[in-house]
Amino acid sequence: MNDCLFCKIVSGEIPSYKIYEDEDFLAFLDINPVNLGHTLVIPKKHSTNILEMEDELSKKMIIVVKKISQKIKTSLKSDGINILINNEAGAGQIIFHTHIHIIPRFKDDGLQHWPSKKFTSEDFLKTAEKIKK
Ligand code: AMP
Ligand code: ZN
Repeated sequence: MNDCLFCKIVSGEIPSYKIYEDEDFLAFLDINPVNLGHTLVIPKKHSTNILEMEDELSKKMIIVVKKISQKIKTSLKSDGINILINNEAGAGQIIFHTHIHIIPRFKDDGLQHWPSKKFTSEDFLKTAEKIKK
């Protein structure tokens, strides 16, 4: 995947504001941050998104994300942390190399929770059945 932007960040071909690196993962500041400290954690090995990524690496990745989140929270004194993943274009993924966003949040940062919709109990029951099948 030599045309992948994040693979190029891993190889050093494209610069980044690195904050963490180990054998399997790299973390760097998002260039268009929600707040300063907004970080992306990526596996060095290319995969399209977390749904496609191998399980053992996914397990390791969440531990790394937790550690970096704790560090961001204490060093930047944030009031909270959002950890999120956009998977596939329909969910807003624009870079097709697995990455987890770590976003430090502050009480007055103006961001709002995503909007919700109203559904009937029948809708909930049918949907739960579909997923469980
Ligand atoms: P998404 O695929 O929607 O989960 O988000 C991809 C994220 O990558 C966006 O938040 C971009 O701001 C970020 N991004 C794109 N190019 C770079 C880059 N060269 N360095 C750091 N972050 C980047
Ligand atoms: Zn890649």
